[in-house]
Amino acid sequence: MGLKEDKVVPGREERVAACMAYGGSACGIGRENKVCLKNSERGFSQAGLCQLLPTLGMLLTLPETAVVVHGAIGCGSTGFGTNVSMKLHHLLRGNPNAKDGIWVSTNLEEADVVHGGEGRLEETILEVDRRFAPKSIIVIQTCAPSIIGDDLEGVIEKVRAQIDTPLLYSHCEGFKTKIWATGYDVAFHAMVHGFIEKDREGRPPRKEGRKPEERPVVNVINLASVGRPDEQEMERLLNAIGIDVIIGPNFGSREKIRSMTQADLTVSVCPTHDDYFVDYLHTEYGIPFVLKDMPIGLENTRNWLLDIARHFGLEKEAQAFIEREEAQAKKSVEKFLPLLKGKRVFLSAGEFRALVTAGLFQELGLEVVGLRSYHHDDFGTEYYGKIVGAQGGKDFPVDIANFQPFELVNLLKKIDVDLFAGHIWDNAWAARLGLPTITIFRIFDYYVGYRGFYEVAKKTARILRNHSFNTNLSRHVPGAYRQEWYEENAFKYIKSFQPEETSEPESAAA
Ligand code: SF4
Repeated sequence: MGLKEDKVVPGREERVAACMAYGGSACGIGRENKVCLKNSERGFSQAGLCQLLPTLGMLLTLPETAVVVHGAIGCGSTGFGTNVSMKLHHLLRGNPNAKDGIWVSTNLEEADVVHGGEGRLEETILEVDRRFAPKSIIVIQTCAPSIIGDDLEGVIEKVRAQIDTPLLYSHCEGFKTKIWATGYDVAFHAMVHGFIEKDREGRPPRKEGRKPEERPVVNVINLASVGRPDEQEMERLLNAIGIDVIIGPNFGSREKIRSMTQADLTVSVCPTHDDYFVDYLHTEYGIPFVLKDMPIGLENTRNWLLDIARHFGLEKEAQAFIEREEAQAKKSVEKFLPLLKGKRVFLSAGEFRALVTAGLFQELGLEVVGLRSYHHDDFGTEYYGKIVGAQGGKDFPVDIANFQPFELVNLLKKIDVDLFAGHIWDNAWAARLGLPTITIFRIFDYYVGYRGFYEVAKKTARILRNHSFNTNLSRHVPGAYRQEWYEENAFKYIKSFQPEETSEPESAAA
């Protein structure tokens, strides 16, 4: 059966041999045995990330959709933070009065865990439909109701007969996968089972081919973690070579998501994020795809554009455009280069973003001296070798960790770092050590394309010139861990299992 037919989305450990724990080097990760990587584990873990976070983050971007989190109240708590971010996204989209995303919890308590939560789920869906009158309702089932055996599908079928609102669902139990990125698949799984084909108006027909006078139309799959400025930059790049763009499905209305089934090509922005939806559009609607580069940095932007252009015979136009834009981008960053040259950068983010941003920094003359990624899968493998190759074979430590700040801080204490580039929650740890930090992503800023290249250079130069706030912070904030921990190997608690091994990993506290 294909992914679409699966009732429960498989964990990414199974689907793409993804891994959550690795401590080694950039050269080493490509040589690792995939089975060992997939089975690696930590004997001590300080943090974690449930797949519910990205699932809820994506589903709450859908306008006029209510999300029912079936489970204990804590499972939906990330919805509060997500709503703040959604407000900002809407602001950038010229919609300052956008309402909060609607999410409710069935709030299972001890008695429900004993007697079952199906009644509560039914009641909640009906109440959401009555109170909010959304255009769609999506139910995501979390750990507790799955463990006690609630019949999610049974409740959905029963309630569907009582309401007119399309009712979608997806299983999202955190205990089934350690790979939080599975949450992207879970959200796409819910969307494609109702937003596109099980619509009451019937399934949209496959597109019948483009007339010669029509401009090609490309789906660009956006992420909840791509800001509007970056969407505009991608639109600008593709429009400039004669290609029209549909950006979705995040923040897309139901009609817009349906229109994605009529495009000529689907293009990913981040392969890790997009592969489920790309595969769906290809399998169900025959839409070819490009699933490779993220257009961050000059080389990746060039490859991204050329791959798309090649599909429509527009290489000449793309090549001419790229040459013009690259020349302009290089000229615009010239004034920053003396300050950036030779600086040593450590990156921390989702794997693909961290890797391609490493390439951008190298183009600006920095050296990559460390990288921490929130998980690893095969989409990133070749990039580690590429980064090492681009700096004359200089290898660097790689930490694959669902956060685990104790490993990060240990590494930062041992490596000579001039700049730390991470998400804000990572930057707090580096700032505490007094390191200059820049955010690797903010929805207000440009990161992709040529505008992104310039903006990152400017931001980096500014922070390298003056990072006295972090310097002062480190003087007044005590160290996060005891000195003994820094004397240990940062990867002390990571263990790889051969498939036949059954022993438990070393268990200890730092
Ligand atoms: S791991 Fe399970 S219980 Fe915990 S937040 Fe995720 S879905 Fe909820």
